[in-house]
Amino acid sequence: MMTIDIARWRTIKGFMHEEEAQRLYDISLDASLKGPILEIGSYCGKSAFVIGSACEKNDSILFSIDHHKGSEEQQPGEEYHDPDLFDSRLKRVNTLPFLQQTLSAAGLDDIVIPVVGSSAQVGRFWQTQLSMVFIDGGHSYETALSDYRTWAKQIMPDGYLVFHDIFLNPEEGGQAPRQVYDLACQSNDFQVLEMTNTLGVLKKK
Ligand code: SAH
Ligand code: MG
Repeated sequence: MMTIDIARWRTIKGFMHEEEAQRLYDISLDASLKGPILEIGSYCGKSAFVIGSACEKNDSILFSIDHHKGSEEQQPGEEYHDPDLFDSRLKRVNTLPFLQQTLSAAGLDDIVIPVVGSSAQVGRFWQTQLSMVFIDGGHSYETALSDYRTWAKQIMPDGYLVFHDIFLNPEEGGQAPRQVYDLACQSNDFQVLEMTNTLGVLKKK
C-alpha cells in the first residue's frame, strides 16, 4: 500500500507516472531493509521523494547522484527545458536548489544524501554494496551503458536493479535505456521481474 504523501509528490517537478511511483516505493520498501539504495538522476527529487520515504520507514538511506546540470534534452532550446531551472548566476541549468527544497519540505534531508557529480566519477572509487540501484540519468546509449557497468556490480545478492524509461514501443521514446536494460536481462546476473509502465525491474541472483 502506498504510504507516501501523493498530494505533495504531485507538486514536485519531474518525470514519473503514479503507478511507477507506487511500484518504486514497494521495491524500495523491500530493498531498504537490507542496505542503502542509490539512484542516478535526482533532478528535482521526484523519485528521491518516493525512494527516500521508503528508506525513512526502514531507517536506511538513499544516495542520489546528479551533476545537476541537466541532461541533453533539458538544455535551453531543447524539448524538456524548464526555464525555472535556469540559474542566472551560473548561466546554466541547476536543479540542486530544487532537490534541496523537495527534501527539506519533506523532512528527508537526513535520509536522502545528494551526491553532486557525474555518475562515472562518483563510481570510480565506490565500495559500498547497495540493496537497489535506480538508473534514471542520461539517456544516451554511452551514458546509460556506463551507469549500468559502473553500478550493477555494486548490487548485493537479492538486491534490485531498476531502470526508468524503458519503451518497448520505439514510437513512444528513445531506445538507449531499453538496449541497456536488454543487456542486463541477457547477462544471467539477474532474474527479470514484471515491468510497470516504463519501469524495468531486475533482481540480482
Ligand atoms: N529521477 C528524476 C528524473 C531524472 S532526469 C525524477 O524522478 O524526476 C535525469 C537527470 O540525470 C538530470 O537531472 C541530469 O542532470 C542527470 N544526469 C544526466 N547524466 C548524468 C550523469 N552522467 N551523471 C550524473 N547525473 C546525470
Ligand atoms: Mg526518467
